[in-house]
Amino acid sequence: MTHSLQFRLLAAFTLVILVTIGAVFFFINQATQNEIRQFEQRAEETHASRMQFELSVYYSRQGNWNGIQPYIEQWGNLYGQRITIADANGTVVADSQNLLVGMPCPTNMTGRPLSVPWEGIVGTLYVAPQSSGADLTSFLIVYQSMGRFFLWGGALAAVMALVVTFLLSRRILSPVRALTLTSSRLGQGDFSQRVQTQDKGELGELARTFNLMAGDLERAEKLRRNLVADTAHELRTPLSNIQGYLEAIRDGVVQPDTATINSIHEEVILLSRLIDDLQELALAEAGKLNMVRQAENISTIINQAVAAMQPQASAKGVSLLTDLPDGLPLCDIDSHRISQVLRNLMDNAVVHTPEGGTVTVAARHQDKWIEVSVTDTGEGIPAEDLPNIFERFYRVDQSRARATGGHGLGLTIAKRLVEAHGGKIDVQSELGKGSRFTFTLPVPELIIP
Ligand code: ADP
Repeated sequence: MTHSLQFRLLAAFTLVILVTIGAVFFFINQATQNEIRQFEQRAEETHASRMQFELSVYYSRQGNWNGIQPYIEQWGNLYGQRITIADANGTVVADSQNLLVGMPCPTNMTGRPLSVPWEGIVGTLYVAPQSSGADLTSFLIVYQSMGRFFLWGGALAAVMALVVTFLLSRRILSPVRALTLTSSRLGQGDFSQRVQTQDKGELGELARTFNLMAGDLERAEKLRRNLVADTAHELRTPLSNIQGYLEAIRDGVVQPDTATINSIHEEVILLSRLIDDLQELALAEAGKLNMVRQAENISTIINQAVAAMQPQASAKGVSLLTDLPDGLPLCDIDSHRISQVLRNLMDNAVVHTPEGGTVTVAARHQDKWIEVSVTDTGEGIPAEDLPNIFERFYRVDQSRARATGGHGLGLTIAKRLVEAHGGKIDVQSELGKGSRFTFTLPVPELIIP
């Protein structure tokens, strides 16, 4: 609980409120004390002037200070002040506390002269606060009432702030809670989970990014499942063929002669090619291909690949041609991988081109790219299959493809290898007329002539 964001928000808000109320209380208290002090000084001043006037009137009526003591005691009680009166000789004639009467007036006090017409100064009035506790008491009273006011006001403000913070934090934290819940469900393998949020702020952005990530995860998981299912399916056919041959030999239905062994051998070769291709594809998709890239002459690589394919093309009665302009720039590639791309494309072209047809491998330079194309005059690919042609295990005609030994990985591998070089692969095809596969390879800027 103490680590929850909601608790921390509540604690922070409460602290801010308490500090604010404390600071306001302190400053208002200071200001009020000043005001009280000034007010009391003004009141003392007014009392003293009035007493000065009344005493002068008293003396001018009476002619002396006799009988003044009771009045001075009353005033002293009334105003809460120590009032002392000395006559013209400096002898105390009245004292509100009745202590100094008849004694000489203490010289350390400053007084107000009492004068009457014709006689001049007839005495002095001394006024002093009765005790230093007088204004302290009023301070205390103000302090206490203000303290109460601030205590209740502060408590009310704190409660309101806590309620507002609680509601606000619940609103703020609801996307976070939704994210936590959804991610834990994702973690348990339910990849269809998404966070529902209307929040337009940073947390909403986080939820949307999270949903994108969940979408990617769901797709990756689907691909993984498909791959496992497809691979199992592909492995099953050659394996069950081998099993069939072996069982037939065991049951004496088929003789273990050279022809049978050759058939089994072919199935084994098919299996091991499939496993090699799958391994290559897995490495390419994980971005873990061990590539040795260097500046290579693409014409040389094409000529070598064409020479290697020539016997297969001749055997099928297909002409294998090249169209390579002079002075093509070097490109930054792994020659082994690009030869494999060429092999896959030429192999497909020869397989799908009938006798008398032509397969042409061409290259041309375009800006920062070398574009290589393999064009055939073969059967072509139906338009509805074209978008899927680079997907793994995809074959236009399953039964015929099986007869040609293909397992639908050649184009997928070619695409991954070209992309690993930073290039793109594309296809154009017309049914009955032929196909044209094109891929691009980067020309490093320093090598462009
Ligand atoms: P495969 O190992 O079956 O050849 P690929 O991935 O290389 O797998 O090709 C996928 C499918 O695309 C093939 O089964 C074939 O139907 C079709 N295809 C590829 N190249 C050509 C081509 N040049 N002409 C006609 N169809 C082609």
